Amino acid sequence: MTPDQPEARRRALAFNAVGPAINQAGYWLPLSARRAVADAVLDAVAGELDADQRRAVRIQTLLDDTRDRIRKLHRPVERAGRVVCAECSAYLGEPADRPAPCPTISALEPTA
Ligand SMILES: [Zn+2]
Repeated sequence: MTPDQPEARRRALAFNAVGPAINQAGYWLPLSARRAVADAVLDAVAGELDADQRRAVRIQTLLDDTRDRIRKLHRPVERAGRVVCAECSAYLGEPADRPAPCPTISALEPTA
């Protein structure tokens, strides 16, 4: 098992959580029972985990598509020897051309 295997990592985390939780409640379980409890809980929530993962993928795809549409709209174009934002400059007109990248594109960049 390596940490980059999500299922194995999830099972290891669940297994490691069972012991302290049982002990804190004043009980003790052998390791094999801890594994069975951890696996049973993970199996019970597997459908929820899968749904959450599919939802996360859909949201990421929507976010990526939206960023792509914004980048196409605010693409750099050359105008009179200057590189300006196509959308912002079209809106502002001469001589108020907005240099590219414009604030909209800059806002798409991740912050530290
Ligand atoms: Zn722009």
